[in-house]
Amino acid sequence: MTPRGWAVLTLAGLTVALLVAVALLVPWHRPPALRADQLAALRDLPAEQVARARAFRGALRPGGWAALAVGLLVALAVGLTPLGGRLVELVARPFGGHWVAQAVLGGLAVLLVADLLTLPFAAWRQTVLTRYGLSTQGWGGWTADLLRSYAVSAVIGALALLGFYTVVRLAPRWWWAFGAAGAAGLVVLLSFVLPVLVEPVFNRFTPMEQGPLRTELTALAARDGVPVRDVLVADASRRTRAVNAYVSGLGPTRRVVVYDTLLREATPAEVTSVVAHELGHAKDRDVWTGTLTGALGAALGVVVLYLLGSAGPLLRLAGVDSIAEPRAFPLLLALVTVAGLVTAPAQALVSRRVEARADAHALALTGDPATFEAMQRRLAGVNLADPDPPRWEYLYSASHPSTVERMAAARAYARETGR
Ligand SMILES: [Zn+2]
Repeated sequence: MTPRGWAVLTLAGLTVALLVAVALLVPWHRPPALRADQLAALRDLPAEQVARARAFRGALRPGGWAALAVGLLVALAVGLTPLGGRLVELVARPFGGHWVAQAVLGGLAVLLVADLLTLPFAAWRQTVLTRYGLSTQGWGGWTADLLRSYAVSAVIGALALLGFYTVVRLAPRWWWAFGAAGAAGLVVLLSFVLPVLVEPVFNRFTPMEQGPLRTELTALAARDGVPVRDVLVADASRRTRAVNAYVSGLGPTRRVVVYDTLLREATPAEVTSVVAHELGHAKDRDVWTGTLTGALGAALGVVVLYLLGSAGPLLRLAGVDSIAEPRAFPLLLALVTVAGLVTAPAQALVSRRVEARADAHALALTGDPATFEAMQRRLAGVNLADPDPPRWEYLYSASHPSTVERMAAARAYARETGR
């Protein structure tokens, strides 16, 4: 069998594995929150709060979609014309066109061009956040964050580009197999190291100070049977007023992180409710699920790129002989960008299911639907979330159930348990 034949077989195997993983690990069998409960919850929210949130989201929307559109157009413009290949050559020229310069510097230059052209939209977004009082950052802090994120992307990107094109040179016929394994490995590695190496670049993390709340949260985790190394507080207030909490890392790097803004804005019972949700993610191994499906998806992506990349018309458009040469990186980027946009609704759907399960966990663990609902109101109020966003936007990009869905879930729980 030819490498191409093996690639088709591998593609079939990975597709089945991904579908099985998604079918088994994602909680599909939870009844949705009743629409009548959702509408009742919406009526209970202050009309002024809903109007302000909708005005804010409406102000963000044009820039958000324009950034997606421009990002796509730029990716297609550099990927499906010889333009991107020429940029790669140009950047590597001072280095005699050496393949390492083409692969690393050329690849990073292409990524930078795409980033810079969508930068005006990011800046515009920041002006909206400031106008609505959600951002606490001046342009200095905003720029520093931007440069930090470019630096992090450049380091990870350079390593990935160098690794990928080294494999391509060492195994010209089988690079896709090593590339798929490498991409999957990289996803797993990043799950371990991002919380430890990258998150501290953006925020300072301190263990939650000793006191009744920390004791309560530690007892909650123990009661839940969830091994959590630490509850950390992030100094999010230096860039935002928004409140949040999350769980990240795997095994020894797993931690629950609470924004300092949350501690400032919410009551201790509400913080407990949020942490109970995060414990749900830990208990149900959601980070593992995300890592496993991410790794399978990345491997699948490499094989698809290899198969698509041998299509003559695409190569002719990009003016390259093979998808495996560094000059074809812009074509790879275009395909990845399209894949990201096309799969976004599926990723959002999976995320919402997982988040709804963590909500159910929080309700069961605390047995306190009233506080859970109060917390959802507060989250929506402080974060200026549209409690019941437009359907199409929800389906395309919502990573969490809407505020009214979460309030309705709390009400259903209260009815079922008589609390
Ligand atoms: Zn969550």
